[in-house]
Amino acid sequence: MTSPVAYILVALAGISAMLSVIFFMAWFTLGKKPYAMSWALAFLAATLQWTCNIFSESFPNFEAYWLTGNAFALILITLGLRGHCQRTNCQNLPDNLWPYTGAVYAVIVWATIIQPHIGVRTAMVPLAASLTLFLTALMIYRHREETRPAEYAATILFAVVAVSQTIAGVMAFMQGANGDPAYFGLYMHFNFLTLPAAYTGMAMFVVFMLASDLSEEMKAIAVRDQLTGLLNRRGFNEQSAKTYALARRRNLPVAVILTDIDRFKQINDKHGHEAGDLALKHFARLMQVSRRQEDVLARVGGEEFALILPGTSLDDALKVADVLRGRVEIAPLDYKGESIQMTASFGIATLSVSDTCMTEVIVRADSALYRSKRSGRNRVELESSQVLKAVNGTLKAATA
Ligand code: GH3
Ligand code: MG
Ligand code: MG
Repeated sequence: MTSPVAYILVALAGISAMLSVIFFMAWFTLGKKPYAMSWALAFLAATLQWTCNIFSESFPNFEAYWLTGNAFALILITLGLRGHCQRTNCQNLPDNLWPYTGAVYAVIVWATIIQPHIGVRTAMVPLAASLTLFLTALMIYRHREETRPAEYAATILFAVVAVSQTIAGVMAFMQGANGDPAYFGLYMHFNFLTLPAAYTGMAMFVVFMLASDLSEEMKAIAVRDQLTGLLNRRGFNEQSAKTYALARRRNLPVAVILTDIDRFKQINDKHGHEAGDLALKHFARLMQVSRRQEDVLARVGGEEFALILPGTSLDDALKVADVLRGRVEIAPLDYKGESIQMTASFGIATLSVSDTCMTEVIVRADSALYRSKRSGRNRVELESSQVLKAVNGTLKAATA
């Protein structure tokens, strides 16, 4: 146990054991994600594989050592790939990868015992690793429309290690049936030059990816209203700023509709808080029925909601608001067999050339909403610079 290789093996076994513990802890504390468990078990297999290498002399014969070590290496590869499939919800690979692992192992058994071939038996694991690393890099890169920085980094690293494992595999194979010492030397040099750094690097990048997943999850929770599932005020502010910037860049109209449920307090007082909560969910669903993908819908207060309609004129926003108003009026909430009638008031404003941010539009929509409340509720009002006029019995907006 004095060769440098032995020290590297001990380091790899120690690192693998720690990574296994880290992923077990990640599984336990970060919401029992199945992929964290797959990787915990993968690194457990890795620990056993490196331990086999350290104690290779203690095996009764070479074949027993080789087949045990390779079995653990293939378990590591399979579980690692399975973890990435689980994390990325990959549909292109089979759920059960073990038959493929079994086939690779059969070749190793054949080239170790039945028809000894040093090149084949050494090349199988690096080649299997390179294939799964390529697949993993592709999976990480492609599973999301917008790849995150942590995922870009992991994709690049996995692809680079895949290439290095392909080279190692080819060198191993070139040893031929009887083991050409020149190629064996090359293979050993190359493998031990690249493997330790690549191996620990990949694990660290995966941990970083988990951290980035978690931070994205937290961000998603922070911008959502728990009761209705809509954006909350924070999410609304973020999205409205984005919509504003886009509208300015593309010179698009934007309409803002604010709505507030009428006499909502009475629902709470008469039927209880639970009914009030259900009424809010019911209302949120009604607001979502004909929503387009680019529309921003949020619960911005207790029983107050906001809808931003990019690319929409005042006229069209008026139609949308009136449809929504009518929909609420004719769809009472069914609560414990009782029908709870609801109405809501609406205020509309649109982005004008002098606005410097979306808040200015929202303030105008809010004062329109206030007027709609004062004028008797269950109504739609436009910002004060606009007047309503009746054209053939339908409401139309016109600039004052
Ligand atoms: P108006 O027509 O003028 O809007 O009258 P209103 O009763 O709807 O308005 P008011 O602001 O007086 O009351 C709003 C009520 O909404 C008061 C508050 O208790 C209730 N509320 C706010 N958030 C929630 C919630 O999450 N769940 C329930 N059940 N009630 C809520
Ligand atoms: Mg209200
Ligand atoms: Mg209110």
